Amino acid sequence: MQIGGNPRRIHFWDPVVEKIKARLSAWKGKCLSFAGRLCLIKSVLTSIPLFYLSFYKAPIAVCDKISSIQRRFLWGWGKDSKYIAWVRWENVCKSKEEGGLGVKDIKKFNRALLAKWKWRMMSEEEGKWKEILVSKYYNGSVNFQGCGKNYSWWWNDLGKVCEEGEGEGWFRNHVSWKVGNGDKIRFWEDTWLGNNKLKFLFPRLYTISLDQGKLVGEVGTWGELGWSWRLGWRRTRFEWETSVEEEMMNLITRTTLNRDSEDFIEWGGGDPKGVFFVRSAYLTLCNYPNDSPTNVFSLLWQAKALPKDVCTTWRVLVGRLPTNDNLIRRGLAINPSVCVFCKASEESAQHIFLMCLCAQKIWVLCLRWMGIVSVQHKDLPVHFESFHLPHLNNQQNQVCRGLWIAIIRSIWDQRNLIVFKQGIPDAEEIFHSAQLATWLCLKFGTAPFRFSFSDWILNPLICIKDF
Ligand SMILES: [Zn+2]
Repeated sequence: MQIGGNPRRIHFWDPVVEKIKARLSAWKGKCLSFAGRLCLIKSVLTSIPLFYLSFYKAPIAVCDKISSIQRRFLWGWGKDSKYIAWVRWENVCKSKEEGGLGVKDIKKFNRALLAKWKWRMMSEEEGKWKEILVSKYYNGSVNFQGCGKNYSWWWNDLGKVCEEGEGEGWFRNHVSWKVGNGDKIRFWEDTWLGNNKLKFLFPRLYTISLDQGKLVGEVGTWGELGWSWRLGWRRTRFEWETSVEEEMMNLITRTTLNRDSEDFIEWGGGDPKGVFFVRSAYLTLCNYPNDSPTNVFSLLWQAKALPKDVCTTWRVLVGRLPTNDNLIRRGLAINPSVCVFCKASEESAQHIFLMCLCAQKIWVLCLRWMGIVSVQHKDLPVHFESFHLPHLNNQQNQVCRGLWIAIIRSIWDQRNLIVFKQGIPDAEEIFHSAQLATWLCLKFGTAPFRFSFSDWILNPLICIKDF
């Protein structure tokens, strides 16, 4: 490995690739059983110079190359002829509990290893290594957020693997700050109240705030009675803004600063003490909805449904709907509340949309109506992805997925009606409004659709096949 080479170039990684090739050579494969080969494949990532994977972001082409060597070794054991991969590589990389073989996905592993640096920068006290890294690579703000032109390539690569910049990346989503004296956390822009940033919770107030970019410790003063918040505004608030402001004050006054302790950071990816481990980061990446099934999201945005319904469904699929469990996680609700439909379980998206008796009734009605026999998946993205008919083409299946979206929206509307106004849980009613929403979407969509609502109700498949 050259010192001072450019890790963004593929050739920089040649020695690593060569080393893996040598370890997984054909003659070894021929003498080993499948289990033996699997074992060697797993050990190879620990035997190569891990330092490089822990410090540099490997280009995608390099990761692909390494996976392909592993794949060929597992299935082809060195034959020059074509090998057959019996199981898709992504499934091989799943954990054993999920039906995979537990081989590490090198891209995710590389990301988890690198995220460790981000974590150390943000969490640890001053130290020699930190000084060196900061002076060499970092010239940014106080709590190591962000990436962009002003930063070094190393820091930007770190930002990329942690998905900084979009504000909703896997890393920040699993990190939260605990307030001490407030000298590291940015008031609006960091996550320090539950799992949400104030700028996302109160976007209108953010735009008129004079405190943008300020640290928590700068948005208030110490007096005889302790800490008091002082927020600055560009202009007088309208009446409705005042009530939003009150809501925000209610939220922030639950937290008080403590002069004697530092702000510190917690990892929410599994460790009960909030400490970051590469292993838990890796598992987080494996389960992160944004990561593997990108397919789900492309299917989502193509589906025949109203844009507002698609957006609600997107929030469901990324786990960002204000259901009670999410509110608690973000510190916006204190007590668990029960599902309004069955009044028996705690409310979560998975429950109200899939597991609840009411939801199950709706899905049964739907499947019966469409003449589908299907397994009921327990995972929302998987449920969505599998909601299609094999004999329909892609365009026609977009109608099926549109219906799925309409059902989700209809359940959510009914839930809100019951919570905030009044209403009774009625599976048939909920399903009926989803049928109507989908029909309206088809009728008034761009493509011609000649069927009446009663045609649609009586024979959905004929209508869809004509689409
Ligand atoms: Zn329920």
